[in-house]
Amino acid sequence: MLFLKACPRCEGGLVQESDFYGAYAVCIQCGCRLADDQLERVLRFRRSGAGGRVAGGQRAGPERAAA
Ligand SMILES: [Zn+2]
Repeated sequence: MLFLKACPRCEGGLVQESDFYGAYAVCIQCGCRLADDQLERVLRFRRSGAGGRVAGGQRAGPERAAA
């Protein structure tokens, strides 16, 4: 599945993928990788009507950068 403008880093499109370890999403623009729960948080936040702008200073960075 493709989520347009869902990347918290560059607002690029995220593609949902899954592998042995579970589901995740990768930004097609900057390569930012989000775990499934992070993606869910981003989507829920966007749906709440914030207009894509992250408030509160909480950053959804990659918690574990596995190779
Ligand atoms: Zn991105």
